[in-house]
Amino acid sequence: EAAKARFVQRNPESLRLHQEALKSLPGGNTRSLLHTTPFPVFVKEGKGYQVVSEDGHTYTDFLGEMTAALYGHSQPAIQKSLINTINNVGLNLGATTKLEAQHASLICSRFHLDRVRFTNSGTEANLHAIQGARRFTGKRKIVVFGGGYHGACFMFPEDAPAENVVDASEFIVAEYNDNEDTRVKIEESGNVAAVLVEGMQGAGPCIVGTHAFLHQIQESARKVGAVFILDEVMTSRLAPGGLQELEDLEPDMTTMGKYLGGGITFGCFGGKEQIMRVYDPRDGKALAHSGTFNNNTLGMVAGYTGLSQVYTPEVCCEFNRMGDRFREKLQAVSKGTKMAVMGRGSLLGLHFLENGRKELKNYSERKENGDLKELLWLELMEDGYWTHKRGSISLMLDTPEEELDRYVACVAAFLRRHAA
Ligand code: PLP
Repeated sequence: EAAKARFVQRNPESLRLHQEALKSLPGGNTRSLLHTTPFPVFVKEGKGYQVVSEDGHTYTDFLGEMTAALYGHSQPAIQKSLINTINNVGLNLGATTKLEAQHASLICSRFHLDRVRFTNSGTEANLHAIQGARRFTGKRKIVVFGGGYHGACFMFPEDAPAENVVDASEFIVAEYNDNEDTRVKIEESGNVAAVLVEGMQGAGPCIVGTHAFLHQIQESARKVGAVFILDEVMTSRLAPGGLQELEDLEPDMTTMGKYLGGGITFGCFGGKEQIMRVYDPRDGKALAHSGTFNNNTLGMVAGYTGLSQVYTPEVCCEFNRMGDRFREKLQAVSKGTKMAVMGRGSLLGLHFLENGRKELKNYSERKENGDLKELLWLELMEDGYWTHKRGSISLMLDTPEEELDRYVACVAAFLRRHAA
């Protein structure tokens, strides 16, 4: 309660703006995930690895726009490419452009896809991958996993109301990291068009899929001729060729998004030529895949500049090693405390699990001390860290390692202060 009172005191302008926003947005909000109580802090601007609030506080940004802001808020090469595109190319050309072809070519070679198509978001990428898999197989059902998040209309926590889900009856929900349940659901349900899975469940946050589990999916999907769709919307940043490279997987289709648009709205889905052919408009019977902004010039150019000039394979490896070091330091200070630190590379999830657990296998095991989690979020904001209330951290390329070390010290102090 004291931390909440300080929050209200520190953020009077945000409170005023929230009250204004309530008049036109339900709950003053247009992204449910960003709602916080008693009200959200309004951010005025992002600069490099920091954000500045309307109340004048500067924060080190660990939320990283839920992985989309990998490049930080003002990466010079990306900024230059955007300004050049605005000035010399234009925004809405209503035509095929070489910008989309060059970004497609780079994404295909980097992530080992035969063909790729662009969308406006990761949500859409998953919708189209599912649609493509259904056309390709002539089957309907989609196997997903409890706790999975594949986009705004694709959430599968066991306690979610069915209306959250696109026609829930079309989805079979299996237990994440449960090889036997996975095998049975894929191989014995019948009519399975595809299996859709994240290699690490981002919304957990950061429940890591085991190598054996991910390979069980691949094997069972192949056995019944279902399309194996790996959702790499979050995990594609973990290695030059994505998590599939780390785990030696060969999915039939991959969906991605976030930072691959360089900070502009973006999504893509791609994979094997014989599947992606269902979208080839030269075939009169092809599936339609439209979207006014699918090839918007800004996303194409910012995404291409980022991947070709900034997030090179070498930078990607070093960045994720930095994330691993950070996680190890957090794990060290959390030893013997109630805090668990999960994740891989540059993506982390902090938890306060019951019975001092340090790992989660799946969402149904997740029983947390929500009060401690909220307190950590509130107090770390006072220390100057912008994080998500659920405990996920998504690092940015230009965050200095000293800021990571300062965070570790702040967390250690928090754990001591609250004997957590
Ligand atoms: N899939 C995963 C694994 C995600 O984490 C997200 C977004 O957080 C999505 C899909 C949806 O992407 P978008 O928010 O761009 O629609």
